[in-house]
Amino acid sequence: MDSEKIIAVTEEYCAHNYHPEEVVVSEARGARVRDPEGREYYDMLSAYSALNFGHLHPEIVAAAKAQLDKVTLTSRAFHNELLGEFCKRLAELTGMQAVLPMNTGAEAVETALKTARRYGAFVKGVPDGKQHIICCEGNFHGRTTTVISMSTDPTARAGYAPFTEGFTAVPYGDAEAMERAFTPYTVAVILEPIQGEAGVIVPPDGYLAEVRRMCTEKGALMIADEVQTGFARTGDMFSCLHENVRPDIYVLGKALGGGIMPVSAIASSREILGVFEPGSHGSTFGGNPLACAVALKAMEILVRDDYPAEARRKGKILSDALRSIDNPDIKEVRGRGLLVAVEFFSSAAPYIKKLVANGVLAKDTHGNTIRFAPPVNIPDDELDDAIERIKKALA
Ligand SMILES: *Cc1c(COP(=O)(O)O)cnc(C)c1O
Repeated sequence: MDSEKIIAVTEEYCAHNYHPEEVVVSEARGARVRDPEGREYYDMLSAYSALNFGHLHPEIVAAAKAQLDKVTLTSRAFHNELLGEFCKRLAELTGMQAVLPMNTGAEAVETALKTARRYGAFVKGVPDGKQHIICCEGNFHGRTTTVISMSTDPTARAGYAPFTEGFTAVPYGDAEAMERAFTPYTVAVILEPIQGEAGVIVPPDGYLAEVRRMCTEKGALMIADEVQTGFARTGDMFSCLHENVRPDIYVLGKALGGGIMPVSAIASSREILGVFEPGSHGSTFGGNPLACAVALKAMEILVRDDYPAEARRKGKILSDALRSIDNPDIKEVRGRGLLVAVEFFSSAAPYIKKLVANGVLAKDTHGNTIRFAPPVNIPDDELDDAIERIKKALA
């Protein structure tokens, strides 16, 4: 089928809860994708950082194929060979003690919120029903009903009330405003170390350390949603490490699945995860052997090939190049590592069309901003070629 027909059938039968660019990706390898007509593009979105390893990383594909011949799903009713190894490896990588596996990012966020509420009720002594959680304006933590209860984006919320109670949103990057929002019943702060969907908003230096200090002083859990920023994307293994901050709970997803399948988890201490007893939380697919095989291989590559250093080095090349573009419509270039955004004074839509015409796939956030986040392992010559195309499109 050609692209036009594929798009038509998708439009007819799939709910219109997204507004995709008119490009069909039918084959992909590494940082390059191809449409059914054979047109080639560089993938500068990487599925919102789920493709830090690029498309079809050969070693991750091999690990998945090998596991497909053994066993893919056991449910948690029984043990599987890889769950323990997966949790051990992820705990080591995060500097934590234990892991609770889920599938999607939103589920991992839900898991972190449930952990914090139980921790408040069972450990901190907050009366059950009074647990209070501080979140940040402009946040994106996913799409479930409780998760959008934290959202301050009207499009994400309209028509979905009633919402889950117990959240206060404070301006992102403003430590004083956060401090004022604490109550004796505050059990957690949840935030992204860099706000991805909001348009790659980097908080002021020292902000994460301040949040850490407040949480420690007030006995609240610091929950870092690193679903998008984690696993080397911003030049550190986790973005909190930029300020040498260790949260109480990491929320992880996207790249953890190696670009093959959804894999998410929270990582925390034994004590904090001790709030769960059998039956109190779970997931049929969470921690399945196929997911564990893929994630284990992904984590191995991440460390072996020093992805954080790659993201720092290539991120500098990319952001220097974007800053060198002479276009008075560009308001700001910002980001860290290989998570870089260009904000325009006007709509980004015409620029995205020009990028596509020049063989570069990228997407706007909030209308005026384009995020550039190529696979961390994009070869240098391909990054250079992509940059030349981006310069042409945005000049
Ligand atoms: C994408 C994202 C999520 C949600 O992940 P899904 O897998 O789409 O549910 C949560 N938090 C952040 C920061 C994200 O970028």
